[in-house]
Amino acid sequence: MSRKTKHAAAALAVREPAALAPARGALAPNERHLRFGDRWAYAPAPEQSDYLQIKSRYQLFIDGKFRAPHSGKHFDSINPATEKKLAEIAEGDAHDIDLAVKAARRAHDKVWSKMAGRERGKYLYRIARLVQEKARELAVLETMDGGKTIKESRDVDLPLVAAHFFYYAGWADKLDYAFPGRKARSLGVAGQIIPWNFPLLMAAWKLAPALAAGNTCVLKPAETTSITALHLAEIFQEAELPEGVVNIVTGARATGQALVDHPDVNKLAFTGSTAVGKMLTRAVAGTKKRLTLELGGKAANIIFEDAAIDQAVEGIVSGIYFNQGHVCCAGSRLLVQEGVFPAVIRKLRDRISTLRVGDPLDKNTDIGAINSRMQLDKICELVESGVQQGAELVQPRLRLPEKGYWYPPSFFTGVTASHRIAQEEIFGPVLSVMTFRTPEEAIERANNTAYGLSAGVWTDKGSKIFKIVSKLRAGVVWANTYNKFDPTSPFGGYKESGFGREGGVHGLAPYLALG
Ligand code: NAP
Ligand code: MG
Repeated sequence: MSRKTKHAAAALAVREPAALAPARGALAPNERHLRFGDRWAYAPAPEQSDYLQIKSRYQLFIDGKFRAPHSGKHFDSINPATEKKLAEIAEGDAHDIDLAVKAARRAHDKVWSKMAGRERGKYLYRIARLVQEKARELAVLETMDGGKTIKESRDVDLPLVAAHFFYYAGWADKLDYAFPGRKARSLGVAGQIIPWNFPLLMAAWKLAPALAAGNTCVLKPAETTSITALHLAEIFQEAELPEGVVNIVTGARATGQALVDHPDVNKLAFTGSTAVGKMLTRAVAGTKKRLTLELGGKAANIIFEDAAIDQAVEGIVSGIYFNQGHVCCAGSRLLVQEGVFPAVIRKLRDRISTLRVGDPLDKNTDIGAINSRMQLDKICELVESGVQQGAELVQPRLRLPEKGYWYPPSFFTGVTASHRIAQEEIFGPVLSVMTFRTPEEAIERANNTAYGLSAGVWTDKGSKIFKIVSKLRAGVVWANTYNKFDPTSPFGGYKESGFGREGGVHGLAPYLALG
């Protein structure tokens, strides 16, 4: 069997999770982590979760109270690592959206927009501190509901959630200084729709600047990851945030659509797929609604021959494999200068064979569960297309847990620009590797995508960084590092990655009318 067909067989084997049989054995209790060959066996180090109070049923949060949905319907939220039901979530419909928008309108006109910025800031500081106090339990919930590793939810998501509330709390009484010479006014009611990959962090990205600017909000979390948003609602109650200032209406696509279509929403902020983003653009055309879109990405990480290769490989690995590749700005394309291609591939192959895939609550896990079966199917379909189109798949041999949705860290070599895996967002732990000879070729290849969210450059030469960065059409470019976030720096895309910026002073502007 040629190398290519062997890989093709491997890829076909992962198409249907049930067909992973050779790799999915019952794991012994002391073997919760996957073993690579016979080299590694880690003792389990699970984060405690038995103290958590997960409700059996979560209701909508409207006008400061939890209430049953108009439809009376609820849907299940499951833990993607175990496929076990965690809780039932209320399914909001157009009637609930209308109640939420009305509550938000009242709160905006009567309370929140009239309140001094200094006072609004106090509420945001209080929320930030409460998030910090409850960070551990929120991180565990985030991991259980969404499948991401505890390492990430504890060390990345939750600190950033608190940091966003702290940061925008500071702007609440300084809006006139943020835009000198202009008078800043709130817009009114903001409708905010977020995806499942960073549920709480996306909520913070949306809510904190909107509230600091004096708007009130109706937030629609993603269907598979609503639980932490509802725990955030409890924090709002505890912080005594005035009723109606934030409303959370859970549900699926139709719930989001009802929010988009509601005539009394002044501003829509959406993070999600480019396809839905395009639909939203059509839906608001001809209305007075303001819109910002944070959409997909197909970021290129560029390694030059003069880069610190070990450091670069580590950055590449964290940029695509951690968080299961469920990151819009994931470095999902790797462009390697030809001279270092063999070394980079060898190191990458070695490194991914040491990544630990499994129980996301285990503190040693590097790659947790894929968020949903639907997402797993999408990854498998795209990987199969890569094999069919002639690219070569590299995957470590590993056993995946019996239950749950998993995908091993993988990369493709022999990828050409026309392959689907070089163009489409996979949103999984799969990297497409290509080569280049000159800086010009690297720039051309990096920009050869419909997206433009982020990119990375790895080189020893500062001058080269500036030269390359100025020619990359991407909203964020990291140099000699990757996926670093801070509430003070703006984030957003070019081309089909959307428009508008979140974070920093830039993130306030879309929530303000500037006179
Ligand atoms: P999605 O299908 O577009 O969903 C995003 C949100 O929109 C969810 O809350 C979803 O609800 C809702 N929605 C779906 N259809 C809708 C409609 N017709 N009208 C109104 N709302 C609708 O995206 P996803 O697959 O959940 O998320 C992954 C995508 O998000 C990726 O493409 C990724 O790149 C992108 N993303 C971008 C950024 C960024 O900052 N640029 C950040 C994170 C993720 P349901 O969940 O209930 O379907
Ligand atoms: Mg879930």
